[in-house]
Amino acid sequence: MDDRQLYETVLGLAEPWYVVGVDIRAGRDEIWVYVDAGSEATHVCPECGEPRPSYDRAEERSWRHLDTCQYQTIIKACVPRVLCPEHGVRRIRVPWAERVSRFTNLFEAFAIRLLRETTVLGVARLLKLSWHEAEGIQRRAVKRGLARREQEPIRVLGIDEKSFQKRHEYVTLAVDLDGERVWWVGDHRRKETLDCFYTDEMAERVHEIEEVVMDMWPAYISSTRTHVPEAERKIVFDKFHVVQHLVEAVDLVRRKEHAELRKQGDDRLAGTKYRWLKGAARRTADDAQQIRALSKAGLKVGRAWAIKEAALKLWTYRSETWARKYFKRWYFWATHSRLEPMIRVAKMMKQHLDGILAYLRNRRTNAITEGLNSVIQEIKYRARGYRNRESFRLAILFHCGGLKMNPLDCEEPLCRTCLPDKRMRL
Ligand SMILES: [Zn+2]
Repeated sequence: MDDRQLYETVLGLAEPWYVVGVDIRAGRDEIWVYVDAGSEATHVCPECGEPRPSYDRAEERSWRHLDTCQYQTIIKACVPRVLCPEHGVRRIRVPWAERVSRFTNLFEAFAIRLLRETTVLGVARLLKLSWHEAEGIQRRAVKRGLARREQEPIRVLGIDEKSFQKRHEYVTLAVDLDGERVWWVGDHRRKETLDCFYTDEMAERVHEIEEVVMDMWPAYISSTRTHVPEAERKIVFDKFHVVQHLVEAVDLVRRKEHAELRKQGDDRLAGTKYRWLKGAARRTADDAQQIRALSKAGLKVGRAWAIKEAALKLWTYRSETWARKYFKRWYFWATHSRLEPMIRVAKMMKQHLDGILAYLRNRRTNAITEGLNSVIQEIKYRARGYRNRESFRLAILFHCGGLKMNPLDCEEPLCRTCLPDKRMRL
C-alpha cells in the first residue's frame, strides 16, 4: 500500500474522489493530502441534488483533518463547480466537510468531544486553533443540533433564571422537564423575555403545555398568564423555590437576633447559621440538639425555624382540601409570630397558594433544572465567567441542550448538511 492508498483508506474516500499526492512539510510539521475528483466525474447541484454538468474548478481550498502522529494534516482540493439551470453556478459539496467549515467532519467531531470535557480556550490550545475557530466549532455544533431537533410537544415546562457576569446579568431558561434538556435560552428575566419564548419558539405548540413549573417571579407569572391558555390551572410554583424563601426568612431572623444578642455580649448564635438552614436529610444529631436547646431558651430564630419546618408538611398532603385546611392554621401561626420576615413569606405564600398546591397533583418540581444548574455552575466556573451573553447561551445549549451535534451522526437520509453522501465515516 503506498501513501496515497493509505490516505484514501483512512480518509474513507470513495469514488469519484481519490488522493493525488501526499506531501510532508517537515519544517512545518504538516502533511498535505491532495484530493481530486477527476475530470470525468459527474456531480450534483448542492441545492437540488440533481446531476448537473461540470462548470469549472474553483480555487483550491484546504481543510484541517485529524493529525497524523505529530503532523497536522491538511486536505487540499480544487472543488468542482456545476452549472444548474435552476440554481446557477454552484460549488459542489465535498463528502468530508460541511459547506462553511474549514475542518473535516472527523476533526469537528473530535473537537466536539473535547469541548464537552473542557473550555473553548482549552480546546483551542490543545488543537492549536484560535479561540474563534474553537468557538466556531461549538457554534456550528449547536446550530446543527438545533436544526436536527424534532418539534415534539413540551408538556411540562420549567422556567428558571440563571445569573452570570458577577450576578448582574440574567438569562431565562426554558426547560423541557420530561426530556431533561434546556430547550431555549433568552436574554434577561423580564416579561418580554418569556413573551418571546411563547410567541416565537412555542407559537404552534403553546396549547400543548400542560404544566409550567416556576418561581413566584411576577414577570414569568404575568407572561405565562398572557400566553398559555388556562394558565391559572397550569402554573406550579416550584417547591424548592418556595422553601428557599422560607429558609432565607429564617436566616434574616437569625441575623437580626444575633446582632441584638451580641450587643448584650451574648454570643449564643455565633457559628450556628448552617444548623438552621439545613434540610432534615443533612441535619446531624448535634445540629438537632443545638436547635432544641436554643429553641427552648425562647430565641426568636427557634420560633422562625419551627414555622419553616411546619410549612414543609404542606407538600406531603395528598388531598388539596386538607392541605388548604392545614395552610390556614399554619398561616395564622406564622402571621401572629411577630417575626417580620416570616410574616412576609406567609403572605406571599397565601397569595400564590393555588400554584403552590398545584404541586400536589403531579408532584412536579424544577429539580431537573437544579441538576442542570450544577452543570451550568461548572461551565461558568471553568470559563471563569462569561463576558458575553451569547457565549453563555451557546455553552448552556451545548452542554445542557441534549442536542445531537456530531456531524457524523446524522440519520436523515436527505439531510441538507450531509449531502451528497456520508461515506466519510470511521
Ligand atoms: Zn440545482
